[in-house]
Amino acid sequence: MKPYHDAHVHLQSFPEAMLPEVMARARAAGVVRFGCCGTSPADWDRVIAIASSEPGVEPSCGLHPWHSADPAVPEDWLERLEALLAAHPGLGVGEIGLDALRPDLQAQMRAFAAQLALAARGNRGVVLHCVRAHGEMAAALRPVAKSLPSILLHAASCSPEIWREYERLGACVSLGPAVLNPRATRVRELARIVPEDRLLFETDSPDMAVNGCAVSALGGRNAPENLPRIIAEVRRLRNPES
Ligand SMILES: [Zn+2]
Repeated sequence: MKPYHDAHVHLQSFPEAMLPEVMARARAAGVVRFGCCGTSPADWDRVIAIASSEPGVEPSCGLHPWHSADPAVPEDWLERLEALLAAHPGLGVGEIGLDALRPDLQAQMRAFAAQLALAARGNRGVVLHCVRAHGEMAAALRPVAKSLPSILLHAASCSPEIWREYERLGACVSLGPAVLNPRATRVRELARIVPEDRLLFETDSPDMAVNGCAVSALGGRNAPENLPRIIAEVRRLRNPES
């Protein structure tokens, strides 16, 4: 069986008691590498703990755009993130980004720029979330892209033209359960055009149930064990003859 890499997952968001089963079922399905992303100071420690106890888990921590105006986030979150990065040399920066469907894009842009700068200074890869703010995101990336060892645009959904811009910036994309949705035309188009060396796959589990597609496992949750189905669908879209 080919070893699979779930490039974007939130293992810390599974109930703790369920995680051993989640990991066992993932490995039984061939998934052996996991890019595990924290989203706020509330889950960073758990991400680090999982990465230190589970083989193959590559951690990133960051303030997700959904939390950038969250009053529950401590004011000194950026200093905390900087300290965490200093303490963990292998730690990436993510999940960070911009989401124009959520309030306060200005606050999101400030948090995003600060974290990009931190990643560039610390020579860390970034994992990006972007919804309908690709112009702003590309503009923020342009000055720092060369200082970032890796850029992963997760759950990518953008036009081919916007993808070319990310491609020039050296970004990779990861495609998730949305490719299983026949109506997700942009994602399915990306699946066809992104070069092999820029293409990764993800479940974004336990989130990301897709309308009309049974990607759920483990009591109705999405889980890394679904990754082979996503990869198979992308392969089918890229090679319709085979
Ligand atoms: Zn995510």
